[in-house]
Amino acid sequence: MSLNEKIGKILGIEEEKISPFFADLSDVKKENAVPRGRVINVFVTIQAEGELIIRHEGGEDITLATVGDKKYPIILHEKLTSSMRRKMLELLRRDYSANKEEINKIRGKNDDWDCSLRPFSSTKKEEERMGGLCGECPNCMEFGFAVKEEGSFNLKSRIEGDLHIATEPEQKSVVVRTFNAVDEVTKTTFIQGEGERTGALFRLSLVREGTIFVGKVVMKDVSPAEFLLSLYSLASTSRVGAVTSDFGKISVHIPAIIFSSYEVSSGYDLHRRAGIEGLNNLDEINRKINSYLDGFKKNHVLITSDDIAKKVLDELTVNGTISHDVVKEAWMNGVNFRKGIKLFIREKK
Ligand SMILES: [Zn+2]
Repeated sequence: MSLNEKIGKILGIEEEKISPFFADLSDVKKENAVPRGRVINVFVTIQAEGELIIRHEGGEDITLATVGDKKYPIILHEKLTSSMRRKMLELLRRDYSANKEEINKIRGKNDDWDCSLRPFSSTKKEEERMGGLCGECPNCMEFGFAVKEEGSFNLKSRIEGDLHIATEPEQKSVVVRTFNAVDEVTKTTFIQGEGERTGALFRLSLVREGTIFVGKVVMKDVSPAEFLLSLYSLASTSRVGAVTSDFGKISVHIPAIIFSSYEVSSGYDLHRRAGIEGLNNLDEINRKINSYLDGFKKNHVLITSDDIAKKVLDELTVNGTISHDVVKEAWMNGVNFRKGIKLFIREKK
């Protein structure tokens, strides 16, 4: 079964209806270097399966947004992206160790491939800087990367997204707990003195388990393999936020996908207009999202389901991980995309 057929089966739609929304990266084409209005809107509902610590960089409190006259916890797209990206790298590494020679042939390189999200600072030594993003794998080609010394271009992410907003307000979805400072968590709140730690107890705001967030992830100009790889990574993302050793367990659900030439609706739009505000039942929320998005059916290609995430995992999991066919094609697509960009840049000079 080709990947296009697989997508048709997962989404329950004829291939011809959605094929215009995918990039053809089966060959090197410089046209692929620029966006061509092929937008896949993936609507997600994220349920907290334990307590979550979701905060801004450096901040201590939970990230909240005001919608209407109430405050709701939110998950910023960048937080979800970093979890999704780490998940994708895990999948790629696992596939690579089982199919090293084949992937190296696609790469056209014999050195060991490595790519990680290790943040680097310009003040660090050269060795530490080298350990970051590789700039060649499907993860880098989809999510983008910043130029390295020897590189010739920066790449912007083709995966975007907006706010994921809790359906229940702060009063119902946030709980404040007191922890003892000997706990693992307190690394973040220790007051560092001369080797001393002060403050034995501290309080932390957490998103209550069971809280549901609604939002959207957007994939632009991706190939069928890239679509499946990122959808699988999203569907299997299981932690988000800070201190994920103790907190952050989530499950990701996908009630709907809209294929269009532009971004349709958003987490905010659903929150305000789909009648889900204040609800806390996942099935009911997914049904409300489906019926609200039905209004877009006339002008766009709409797929609704009780959970596309579950179908993606069911359909693509082989021996406990993502099918090698998907990963292999995503590597080939990434290499072609990269070469296409290089051609495009050379021509513009
Ligand atoms: Zn990479």
